[in-house]
Amino acid sequence: MDKILMTNVRVLDCSGAEPFLGEVLVEGRMIRKVSDQLNALPKQGARVVEGDGAFLMPGLVESHTHLGLNNSNDMFALSALPAEEHTLLAMRNARFYLDHGFTSCMSAGSVKPRLDVVIRNAINAGEIPGPRLLASSPWLTVTGGLLDQHRYHMRREGVGIVLDGPENYRRVVREMIREGVDTIKLIISGDTGIPYAPSHSTVMSEEEVAMVAREVHCRGRRIGAHARSAHSVKLCVRYGVKIVYHATFADEEALDMLQANRDRLFVSPNIGFTAAGIRDTAALGEAGREAHAVFEEEMEAASRALSQLRKRGVRILGGGDYGFESTPHGQNAKDIEFLVKDFNFSPMEAIQTMTRYGGEAMDLAEPLGQVKEGFLADLLLVSGNPLEEINVLQEPRRFLAIMKDGKFHKEPAAGLPLQAAPVGQVSIARQSGSN
Ligand SMILES: [Zn+2]
Repeated sequence: MDKILMTNVRVLDCSGAEPFLGEVLVEGRMIRKVSDQLNALPKQGARVVEGDGAFLMPGLVESHTHLGLNNSNDMFALSALPAEEHTLLAMRNARFYLDHGFTSCMSAGSVKPRLDVVIRNAINAGEIPGPRLLASSPWLTVTGGLLDQHRYHMRREGVGIVLDGPENYRRVVREMIREGVDTIKLIISGDTGIPYAPSHSTVMSEEEVAMVAREVHCRGRRIGAHARSAHSVKLCVRYGVKIVYHATFADEEALDMLQANRDRLFVSPNIGFTAAGIRDTAALGEAGREAHAVFEEEMEAASRALSQLRKRGVRILGGGDYGFESTPHGQNAKDIEFLVKDFNFSPMEAIQTMTRYGGEAMDLAEPLGQVKEGFLADLLLVSGNPLEEINVLQEPRRFLAIMKDGKFHKEPAAGLPLQAAPVGQVSIARQSGSN
């Protein structure tokens, strides 16, 4: 079995512990040993990577990915992209995410029914580079819901699948699972700035949600749901949704319900998307005034909900809705910065939304998201301290090496280009302390 020993690295294991200088031994796909001492783990038969004091942390986990988006806001034009071109686009994006340190992604909506499934399968077969991916169905929505792009005056389809009534949901959920998705994506509430389905409204019926839950859970799959209104959040909890997206207007009762079920669910607020909306509508001046007010209202509500959820110990996930014009792919780790700067998360807590808790939300047979023995070897070697320089994770050039499944996607550069001085001092202190 392939052995790789990473030595002289500062391990940010993302359990919540402070980083320590040490070594990590990778065997095959797994992290076999972690030591807080140097020269402690066996070198025999191992390729030794000298980390020169760089930080070693888990690969990042994105909780709300759309690999089929093309950095444009025109979802209708995107729906017109032929399947062949679309597959190539998603394939390039998959590699782009891995290049940006994302070793795992949970899709929150495939732009074509089989797009995620095909990309996931090709990644798993080693045919193309990309993160470990949980494949999603397209957005399942109701008539007049978010991503219902039908119009009376012309025949056209959009990227969402529009369904009304439990029986229609039952059929499509069964079809999607037949095609191989891991996740069914529901649009239970309205969304920001949609006049006929604003965020406060709950557009799916309880009967529809209940039917989906029945069909999904008896097949061992999961539901991820767009839920901004208070009632939609309650439906999510009542029917076992695993990832509640947004939870913007969660009221006291909804917060209580989330808290009571915090061991089995996650909330992914997608804060970067709202922050980008505020920034972009402000730049429009008077023309963007109305939209700006809506985004600000949502940010305020999200901020309230998020601080409550944090207090109540609900696991928060990072990432979400990158791939639009104002939130291009690859900037996903900005969410970590937003959580620190605007929501009073400590850097450690914010980073855990994209590592430890992301790994828990992936919920695979083998654990991931921390640098720990018995965890999958998804690792980043980082030039700089992510706890002190929070935006270091937004810069792929700072990743000296990227490992997924025990294999380097990005090989460690020969003679790692580090400014080693302050790091070296710490390492010496640690060394004498621990030996
Ligand atoms: Zn989305």
